[in-house]
Amino acid sequence: MSGEARIRIAVQKSGRLSEKSLELVKSCGIDFNVDPRVLMCGASNFPLDFLFVRDDDIPTYVADGVADIGIVGRNELDESGITLPVVRDLGFAGCRLSIAVKRGDDYDGLSWLEGKRIATSYPRILGRVLSEAGVTAELVRVSGSVEITPSIGIADCICDIVSTGTTLRMNGLVEVEAVYKSTAVMVARPDLEADVGLEAVLSRLLLRMDTVSAARKKKYILFNLPADKVDDAARIVGGMKSPTVTHLLDEGWVSVQSVVAEDRFWSVFEDLKAIGAEGILVMPIEKMSQ
Ligand code: ATP
Ligand code: ZN
Repeated sequence: MSGEARIRIAVQKSGRLSEKSLELVKSCGIDFNVDPRVLMCGASNFPLDFLFVRDDDIPTYVADGVADIGIVGRNELDESGITLPVVRDLGFAGCRLSIAVKRGDDYDGLSWLEGKRIATSYPRILGRVLSEAGVTAELVRVSGSVEITPSIGIADCICDIVSTGTTLRMNGLVEVEAVYKSTAVMVARPDLEADVGLEAVLSRLLLRMDTVSAARKKKYILFNLPADKVDDAARIVGGMKSPTVTHLLDEGWVSVQSVVAEDRFWSVFEDLKAIGAEGILVMPIEKMSQ
């Protein structure tokens, strides 16, 4: 279509968010070729262009309209101090910001931090956490290698992103309290709604994302069952519209098909076995629309 609006999405060029961000777009049936040497690339079968940047810059670019939407860690967004509409929580790149203290310190809660020097790359988020807890501390802003600061004497403890805790241990620190949790989010520029063409493209993209993500949370289940147990099975499978029931040639048996939430799957499976279900087949669902 000529003159069709194209939406520009800012994604991290290289880092923990990059692969998953591109995978998400791909899972929506959108084709593109990424050339690592270039800053931008366009999708071939959907009106979407990528802008590859450092994650720290994503909130600013989206706020300034350099990009229309972006994928960024909630931690970076909150730390930037920029307020943007979060259109979806994407669930990946989960991490936590934790307080870590020197091994042997008698940490007993946030009040322990009163008057201490805390090194962090997230002074804004930590500042908010401390003020909510009524604690006053000195925040030492560092941009990297936060975990070495207590051993070189420039901080008493730290607040940093923790994944495995190995780096902390190597520096004689222990994680004592998680104060903030983050996942990747999709943000949009605040005035996007005013652009009818772009708003329509964003809605198409979100519908595709929601369809894929709804499918991932469900499993398709198919099993044989004594016909007199159908009501029990419907109760067990629950939550959904009534299951599809087909009569089998074998007198007294039916075949049942339904959709089950992934997180309930094993309890449903065991309950179905208990009422005599046989030949249980479970299949992934590729796309699903309510
Ligand atoms: P850039 O070069 O783009 O500035 P970066 O080094 O600041 O990259 P990454 O380390 O790639 O950033 O992390 C990007 C985001 O991934 C973080 O802001 C956070 O939301 C998320 N994340 C998930 N797990 C971790 C982790 N273990 N350590 C750091 N960030 C993590
Ligand atoms: Zn960064």
